[in-house]
Amino acid sequence: MRGETHVLLSAFRSIEQLPGAAHPAVFRVRFACGCGGEHDGLLTHEELDWAPLGLGAGEFLNLMTARLEPAGAELGELAAVHIKRGEWPWSFFCYPEERPRPVFPSSFTLLTATDGTVGLAVRCPSCRRLSLNLVSHPHVDVPFHNDRQIGVVEHLFADDALTTLEAFRAELWSATFDARRLALE
Ligand SMILES: [Zn+2]
Ligand SMILES: [Zn+2]
Repeated sequence: MRGETHVLLSAFRSIEQLPGAAHPAVFRVRFACGCGGEHDGLLTHEELDWAPLGLGAGEFLNLMTARLEPAGAELGELAAVHIKRGEWPWSFFCYPEERPRPVFPSSFTLLTATDGTVGLAVRCPSCRRLSLNLVSHPHVDVPFHNDRQIGVVEHLFADDALTTLEAFRAELWSATFDARRLALE
């Protein structure tokens, strides 16, 4: 995916860790392209989770301007200050645990987007179970922007549920959502 400088996280459609490669972990990412199609790219764990925060080496994808920019010590430092204050670049609501949790993009498994909202399937980094959240675009695309309130599907998914984007979308758009506050304490 090098050179694809205009891909926002909300344009990702699926994120899947490839078996085998562990150091670094490698993820196959399918994303919706400006050409109208969907393409696959490979990202390392660092590129997926840290580059948007300016903490990677070399260049980073600035998710706020959707531009690849020289690694700014400033954004990296700013991110460090936020995280030390207990503010997380991304968060989601874990329904099985009934609590908000911090998360990184590598835990997003499936995404879909409309003009106003992004549907997210997240595998909880803590309990490993799946949750479906409905959030705003900035919640996903702008690190440290966390919606105050999000939509949560009140359903416990089997471990092997939601394996395809089609199944995920069908589940998402037929589901009813319950509002949850997302304040991380
Ligand atoms: Zn394309
Ligand atoms: Zn959980």
